[in-house]
Amino acid sequence: MNINVEKVKNVPGKVIKAEATSEPNSYSVGAEMISAVSPISFSGTVENSGHGLVIDGEISTIVEMPCSRCAEKLQYPVQVPFHEVYMHRRETATNEEEVYFYEGDKIDILPQVLQAFLLELPMKVLCREECKGLCPACGTNLNIKECRCERELIDPRLAALKNLLNDRTEGGVTSGSTNKKNL
Ligand SMILES: [Zn+2]
Ligand SMILES: [Zn+2]
Repeated sequence: MNINVEKVKNVPGKVIKAEATSEPNSYSVGAEMISAVSPISFSGTVENSGHGLVIDGEISTIVEMPCSRCAEKLQYPVQVPFHEVYMHRRETATNEEEVYFYEGDKIDILPQVLQAFLLELPMKVLCREECKGLCPACGTNLNIKECRCERELIDPRLAALKNLLNDRTEGGVTSGSTNKKNL
């Protein structure tokens, strides 16, 4: 995911427009995986600040992730701002600066782009708000079909949510009573 900086790297104060893309792929980022199902794209500018090259713009792609309830794959679009400073190998950064180094005329921004996506992606995603998840007893995807397991085996979190909803529909009319309704 290279950006050509030949025209800007030796001209302090200069700003150029820049675009870069990377093919859809599964990328490993440390211990994590990012599965991009559409091209990763960057659009923005490169500015020679006189002390490094500032790459600034926006990055986007569509990431495929498993639903955290039913494990069904879903597509999650991400679009985030991108801002990093790159310095040539010959230059030295002060201790406070967080910079990356490059050589030659091209900067491969892909590692930092993937990091930026990783920070943005939620730990948990749902294929839909009302995803019923998998039956904890038999593993049936309850969005697709019902299973014959005992009702008590339903995810306790869902049961808790149900109680909460019942409480809420009663809330306001009762006089501060927190008693559970007898079902
Ligand atoms: Zn789901
Ligand atoms: Zn079941």
